[in-house]
Amino acid sequence: MEPFIHIQEIEALLHQTASATPRRIHEVLDHAALGKGLSFEEIGVLLNIEDDASLNRLFQVAGDVKSKIYGNRVVLFAPLYISDYCKNNCTYCGYKRDNLFPRRKLTREEIIREVQVLEALGHKRLALEVGEDEVNCPLDYVLEAIDWIYEAGDIRRINVNVAATTVENYRRLKEKKIGTYILFQETYHRPTYENLHPQSLKGDYERQLFAHHRAMEAGIEDVGGGVLFGLYDYKFEVMAMVMHNAALEKDRGVGFHTVSVPRLKKASGMSLDSFGKGVSDREFKKIVTILRLALPYAGIILSTRETEEIRTDLIHHGISQVSAGSQTGVGSYNESAFEDKPTTQFEVSDDRSPMEVIKSLLKMGFLPSYCTACYRMGRTGDAFMEIVRAGKIGEMCHPNALLTINEYALQYGDDELKELIASFTLSELEKITNPVKKQKLIDALALVNQGVKDLYV
Ligand code: SAM
Repeated sequence: MEPFIHIQEIEALLHQTASATPRRIHEVLDHAALGKGLSFEEIGVLLNIEDDASLNRLFQVAGDVKSKIYGNRVVLFAPLYISDYCKNNCTYCGYKRDNLFPRRKLTREEIIREVQVLEALGHKRLALEVGEDEVNCPLDYVLEAIDWIYEAGDIRRINVNVAATTVENYRRLKEKKIGTYILFQETYHRPTYENLHPQSLKGDYERQLFAHHRAMEAGIEDVGGGVLFGLYDYKFEVMAMVMHNAALEKDRGVGFHTVSVPRLKKASGMSLDSFGKGVSDREFKKIVTILRLALPYAGIILSTRETEEIRTDLIHHGISQVSAGSQTGVGSYNESAFEDKPTTQFEVSDDRSPMEVIKSLLKMGFLPSYCTACYRMGRTGDAFMEIVRAGKIGEMCHPNALLTINEYALQYGDDELKELIASFTLSELEKITNPVKKQKLIDALALVNQGVKDLYV
């Protein structure tokens, strides 16, 4: 397959759109407000916005599109690191092979203990994370680990972030009933990519670039992409990520299920200074809002690399999934069980517990969701996208979100949370105009409050 990222094409697009008139910017924002996506030229126009008035309108339009498509729901998850063995030497990463620290992969018992802590926090969705090392962390181990996690209790969806691999290996992952296969391109700029991933398997730009194509060829329907912002020019990266999405749509019939927007953080063995000026908060908000408008149907994921303040703001303007209570070391959820403190992959900036995050979301009028129904009901890939495009996803996600958060409150909530959720649920029920749907939900909520678990539509 021919690579679909062409540096000169992106640079030319960004150059041509750099002098868009205020009128043209206005037109593009009017089109963006329809929530139907944008052309590459239109994305260029938005990426080149610099003045405050246009930027503020961009932020507002993205917020409106987000609430039109996603309503007030915000999905919660947590990462689970099970192995920090890594043969790669990504210059920015705490797990790079040149960093000498005692490495480990978790045993079955250790994974079960991690899952128990995550469950006690209320989590139902995990993102499984490993470094790349075929000998110390083979795919067979990852596949077994998925079984152990599902067996350990009540985790209902495992998204998997393992290194780019073969169609055959993706088939084996698919058989394990994973949720989304997530892989970040890190940077789409090939010379920068090759420079930051020296002498390693991951240094093969095309192996990384076509990984989602291979995963989809293997039958994995939901794939997630991402850029590590701060490695290269953000305007180039956003344009390239949308081109990647277009290539998946063209070649595989459906684009990214989710995109992630990690920003480079301090990690051991690296200095942020050697990566240039980074991406400012203002630029970061621009990135999230343009992605929301360019890919209106993709989930946008924000991790605890960002502060509470930034997370709170961006939830209003495009973010639809957040991690909470995260630890980024192998065994970190049970740190005291190990002699050596686990080495973290990077530093986190929001250390609130899931309960604190949930309370803050509710107080702002957002509906926190632990829903995992879609992929268990076969609403994946283009089936999912068709429902979203028809504006119907809310009809399923909204009741499911209410059911899962009520289940959470019953099992883990303190008095304040239970009260918050009771009144929030009442006000959400009041918004439902169809009496049949309303009654169905009231009945299901009654079952949840009697202790029935995992109800969904
Ligand atoms: N081994 C897998 C791979 O190669 O894609 C998974 C990588 S890792 C567990 C998940 C992500 O963390 C990476 O893809 C990278 O974007 C991000 N990451 C690495 N170092 C980081 C840093 N210093 N700051 C923020 N994010 C970082």
